[in-house]
Amino acid sequence: MIDPFGRRISYLRVSVTDRCDLRCVYCMAEDMTFLPKAQLLTLEELDRLCGAFIGLGVERIRLTGGEPLVRRDVMSLVKNLGARIGPQGLRELTLTTNGTQLAKHAEGLHAAGVRRINVSLDSLDPGRFKALTRWGDIEKTLDGIFAAKAAGLAIKINAVAMKGVNEDEFDRLIAWCGEHGFDLTLIETMPLGEINEDRTDQYLPLSLVRRRLRETWTLEETDYATGGPARYMTIRETGRRLGFITPMTHNFCESCNRVRLTCTGTLYMCLGQEDAADLRAILRDPSVDEAGLRAAIEAAIARKPKGHDFVIDRRSNRPAVARHMSVTGG
Ligand code: SAM
Ligand code: SF4
Repeated sequence: MIDPFGRRISYLRVSVTDRCDLRCVYCMAEDMTFLPKAQLLTLEELDRLCGAFIGLGVERIRLTGGEPLVRRDVMSLVKNLGARIGPQGLRELTLTTNGTQLAKHAEGLHAAGVRRINVSLDSLDPGRFKALTRWGDIEKTLDGIFAAKAAGLAIKINAVAMKGVNEDEFDRLIAWCGEHGFDLTLIETMPLGEINEDRTDQYLPLSLVRRRLRETWTLEETDYATGGPARYMTIRETGRRLGFITPMTHNFCESCNRVRLTCTGTLYMCLGQEDAADLRAILRDPSVDEAGLRAAIEAAIARKPKGHDFVIDRRSNRPAVARHMSVTGG
């Protein structure tokens, strides 16, 4: 699949649920209303849709959410997608998780063919972790992370960088990741969805963080790239990678290779734009066959926009995009 700007679409993010067992302050409001379960695609429908995307050239699928591991029976989807890994099919199946359910599922993920996961962890301080997630217990996430390591999964920690919240912890996070053999990616907060907090207060440009980190660490340029928005460096002292996702200060859209599918079958061609295609209606229309489904996907890709235009508007403090990250899948 090649979009109108010549970008090859080979990466699909699938949000398998909009629900979550945490309420990270930058991601969700405390009193989130979740979708009625009846609107969700079944796991079989999600698998069929993923199969159609793979048939059209998608090589990598990342399951996300919400929290993907809180969806009931999600491991059956993981197994079915894992069975699609092979030379003619999927090259890689990955997962982004908050880690709370990982201790239970780490071995199953590895057995299904998952080899890498991203785990979100914004702070190593239990009290701060609790405040950031509104009620999370850091021990559960840490247990999950170490169970995943023991199961043989490569781990990348994702931390959202927030001014005055965790900006004093990046050195500690880098050292901790180095000690345990994890990569680390720092993410700028993105203006997605109403969260009942002021985003202009949280925003911390990673250009500034990088300058500060250079006082302690030797950051070496690498040409490692995933086709995603992160720019990676290697930390000489730990030998681990450090990624920076900077949607606000750096526009990475020109190399974008991805589209995002929600748990209701809506396909978003860009995280930062409203345009979408309703694949659920097509999937459930008995008059549409496999070729029709593929044609609908191709028609949607043909509408992929050139890029997004995120701004944190200081006057209105309204999000650039009304839907939360947990809907589109981070
Ligand atoms: N629940 C899983 C987790 O937390 O890893 C997967 C979904 S979560 C929406 C995916 C990633 O998006 C997390 O790393 C989270 O920190 C990040 N995220 C959520 N809201 C964000 C926002 N407004 N700006 C930047 N990153 C955000
Ligand atoms: Fe849940 Fe992940 Fe959003 Fe946190 S970032 S509230 S863990 S979906």
